Amino acid sequence: MTARTTARTRTALVIGGGIAGPVAAMALHKAGIEATVYEAYGATGNPAGTSTGTSGTSGTSGTSGKSAPGGGMTIAPNGQQALETIDAAEVVRAIGTPVTALGLRSWTGRHLAQLAPPEHLPTTRFVWRTELHEALAAEATSRGIPFQRGKRLLDATDTGAGVTARFSDGSLAKADVLIGADGLRSTVRTLIDPSTPKPHYAGMLTFTARVQKTEIPSTEGVLYMCYGKRAYFSYQIMEDASAVWSVNLPHREPMTSTEAHAVGAGEWLKRLREAFTDDRTAAPDLVAATAPEDLLITGPTETMLPLTTWSRGRMALIGDAAHATPPTSGQGASLAAESAVQLARCLRDLPPSRAFKAYESLRRPRVDRILKLTTATPTATSAAARTATPKPAGPLSRVLRDALLPVATKVGGAGGAVWGAWQFDHRIDWDERVE
Ligand SMILES: Cc1cc2nc3c(=O)[nH]c(=O)nc-3n(C[C@H](O)[C@H](O)[C@H](O)COP(=O)(O)OP(=O)(O)OC[C@H]3O[C@@H](n4cnc5c(N)ncnc54)[C@H](O)[C@@H]3O)c2cc1C
Repeated sequence: MTARTTARTRTALVIGGGIAGPVAAMALHKAGIEATVYEAYGATGNPAGTSTGTSGTSGTSGTSGKSAPGGGMTIAPNGQQALETIDAAEVVRAIGTPVTALGLRSWTGRHLAQLAPPEHLPTTRFVWRTELHEALAAEATSRGIPFQRGKRLLDATDTGAGVTARFSDGSLAKADVLIGADGLRSTVRTLIDPSTPKPHYAGMLTFTARVQKTEIPSTEGVLYMCYGKRAYFSYQIMEDASAVWSVNLPHREPMTSTEAHAVGAGEWLKRLREAFTDDRTAAPDLVAATAPEDLLITGPTETMLPLTTWSRGRMALIGDAAHATPPTSGQGASLAAESAVQLARCLRDLPPSRAFKAYESLRRPRVDRILKLTTATPTATSAAARTATPKPAGPLSRVLRDALLPVATKVGGAGGAVWGAWQFDHRIDWDERVE
């Protein structure tokens, strides 16, 4: 083996300043590796190299009548534990609202089950996406990590001894390795494998809203997931009577975020009212109480086939670029944080090619297991997988689901297959050496 291939990593280019990117940069920093984050979006919120922020079909940016807060998400206990490993769990605690349990309801309003993760773990937190991005970027910057905005990666050259990245503003950057944390529509993924599968439309459009004041009592930390007759609806009512809600609306024709936005928030609210007209949950009241300017059109749901490889030469993928999960899994951001920390551990202890192999074998089994649990299939049994399917349950399936789910969750329950402890109780031993 030459000295070049056995040399440890000293510098890294991290492409993407969403969740995986800043977490990876902080973990690399902790591992003694100099990392710089390059984010396509500039300070104005528009991505470099495109004309607007709404041109893609990715559901992650979110658009509304006013500024685009990008929707909300839950950070699971395992994601917070990954952040704890790099002393960054406070970032989520500071901006997140606690979600103490998940309540499952039928469209009739019938209570089906309530699931809570084991008590010894950090409480799941609800966060707004842009607040999380900003807080992680601020934390990384406060640790001395350069965070360059308005830098859209166009391509990269692996010289064998390092990587040179080229950005849409014509600038170049060099380092020992390049980490693709650039999300579902990753450029780095295509550089690693030009024949890689593209994300495909999963048959649903997603919406999120914040209602300032409702007449509905607080759900006391419980996030309710309602299997509506025509669409899945989730909501939580806070102590101050404000509410957040989200919808997965089945929509046969693929639609980009730009097309969905062009329909207009007022028209979507009308269609959502129609979708929930028969439901005896909080959905009709909450949709009716939502002003068009408070509706976020978070876009189409998209899924990816598993990739054959997460790395090539001196480039590797983390987060959605490597392993996108359905939005309703509640695990995409947390798995992104875990992968970022594990990759940094591997690069700390091994030269790049061995580090990338070790990283993938550490991460694949866990990611695949969670994907299996949360991806919609005809035989899916988990609560999350049932919300990821665009086809609403028919009359017979509804009866069966409402009869079986309470039993299944009692058997699997908080410690078993449905809201499984194994998903949440995952710790990364930072100090353990990777061989
Ligand atoms: C509607 C919806 C709801 C969701 N809800 C949840 C939830 O409740 N819980 C959960 O855990 N997960 C949820 N997810 C999934 C979660 O959002 C993703 O798993 C998570 O954002 C992945 O983080 P990431 O850093 O890999 O990618 P992203 O967050 O997508 O960040 C990628 C970053 O890379 C930048 N970028 C892209 N291309 C380039 C380029 N060429 N050059 C430079 N920068 C680039 C982007 O601008 C972006 O900032 C949801 C997803 C959706 C769509």
